[in-house]
Amino acid sequence: MLLPGDGIGPEVTEQARRILQRVSEVFQIEFVLEEGLIGGAAIDARGVPLPAETIELAHQADAVFLGAVGGPRWDNLPSSLRPEQGLLELRRNLGVFANLRPARLYPELAPASPLRETVLSRGVDLITVRELTGGLYFGQPRGRKVRPDGSEESVDTMIYSSGEIERVARVAFRLAEGRRCQVLSVDKANVLETSRLWRQVVTRVAQEYPRVELKHMYVDNCAMQLVRNPGDFDVILTENTFGDILSDLTASLVGSLGLLPSASLGEGRRGLYEPVHGSAPDLAGQNRANPLAAILSAAMLLEYSLDLAPAARAIEKAVQAVLAEGYRTQDIFTPGSRLVSTEEMGAAVATRLKG
Ligand code: NAD
Repeated sequence: MLLPGDGIGPEVTEQARRILQRVSEVFQIEFVLEEGLIGGAAIDARGVPLPAETIELAHQADAVFLGAVGGPRWDNLPSSLRPEQGLLELRRNLGVFANLRPARLYPELAPASPLRETVLSRGVDLITVRELTGGLYFGQPRGRKVRPDGSEESVDTMIYSSGEIERVARVAFRLAEGRRCQVLSVDKANVLETSRLWRQVVTRVAQEYPRVELKHMYVDNCAMQLVRNPGDFDVILTENTFGDILSDLTASLVGSLGLLPSASLGEGRRGLYEPVHGSAPDLAGQNRANPLAAILSAAMLLEYSLDLAPAARAIEKAVQAVLAEGYRTQDIFTPGSRLVSTEEMGAAVATRLKG
């Protein structure tokens, strides 16, 4: 199911669709692509950011692809009616608790990274598995109150159950088995009680995956090591808040937001796939957005929800080929390379996609 959404969402979704159509030709697979409303587009058409028909279609689908939601047009609505609420509700409704964010450095794009080439010499190929539906962002009680002396206090609650930790840990270990067999669990077990439980449960789950090497690291040290030795990392497993911060850090290591895909997975095979970036109102309608994050999200969809890893590899190879040939949208443009539009980039990837 495709949910184009707002701003550049429809433009990048169109290129993801183009690539899925090309995969369909090359690999002789038929996809049924339904389209639905979400975000501002849904507010305009139906008055709510996530209409019931979208939820129903999402539940019937094997996988859900989302472009992006939001924009200044809807910024003044009450928070429960804003476009972003549609996405949060969709994630909750689909029960997707593990957010996967791969960050890979394409050698040609090393100049777009803020890190020195010597630091990048071993490459960057890591994936963050962030717990998405627990911890500080959801824990109760939360709120703010005025104390008797007139000053204010506020509270957020960080809470994790062993079950929540186990299920996301299994996602990380399974993923590591198909990669370099290393899981780094990131916590703050020297200070936080939730982190001590996190470490204990992850260590227990690791025994089910004897091929995978498990290490633990405190989150502050992890942030430092990511900048100093990004080539050391394979799978990073962490809770919601730490994952939010670290995955933005890993994103910045490899260049533009326009390159970063994501997958959100739950218990079954169905997942929600979306580029990490937002609706980029500054670029919307101009055919200038980078569609590669969306295209690579489609590759993750094929791999994780449809068990089509060869097709996912073919997409990644095509993206690599296009970058090696110097095709660049404006966000990754450097002098001497070839500036292309959103559509031209999508078409170039499609042409190079081979079985
Ligand atoms: P953004 O990701 O939309 O844009 C940040 C910057 O990155 C902008 O300069 C933009 O031009 C650039 N950028 C983003 N995607 C790009 C692409 N594919 N190619 C080239 N450049 C790209 O974040 P923002 O500006 O903070 O938010 C804009 C809107 O998007 C807001 O309404 C926000 O709530 C929403 N948003 C939605 C999602 C989502 O749908 N998952 C995520 C983040 C933000």
